[in-house]
Amino acid sequence: MDCIFCSIIEGKIPSKKIFESDNFLSFFDANPVTPGHALVIPKRHYEIFLDMPSSLGIECLDIIKKTTLRILKENNASGFKLVSNNKKIAGQVVPHLHFHIIPRKENDGIKHLV
Ligand code: 5GP
Ligand code: ZN
Repeated sequence: MDCIFCSIIEGKIPSKKIFESDNFLSFFDANPVTPGHALVIPKRHYEIFLDMPSSLGIECLDIIKKTTLRILKENNASGFKLVSNNKKIAGQVVPHLHFHIIPRKENDGIKHLV
């Protein structure tokens, strides 16, 4: 199966890594919505959030938090969006579960989705 994010995990496609844990990886998005835009992905291929076992929940939250603290600091951002698009209808382009962390600043021109 061809999956861009599995290829990143396997090192076949280069990425700018931020943090890695036993079951997760965080790295910078190739097309950032704002500076510092990061992605957190499980190393195993799950298509959507509902496929990921809840037993990975704490480790998942930990790497999301760690990554968020780092990119907020590095970009001097005052807030962030935490977003996961699940299925094409919701805007998911890469069918490997991922969480977007998007740093926000005053007047960055980004509109609220919800
Ligand atoms: P989605 O629309 O599926 O929620 O978001 C997919 C995200 O993956 C997009 O923001 C896109 O820029 C990012 N992306 C797609 N291919 C690559 C890649 O090869 N490397 C990195 N770092 N990001 C990618
Ligand atoms: Zn995958």
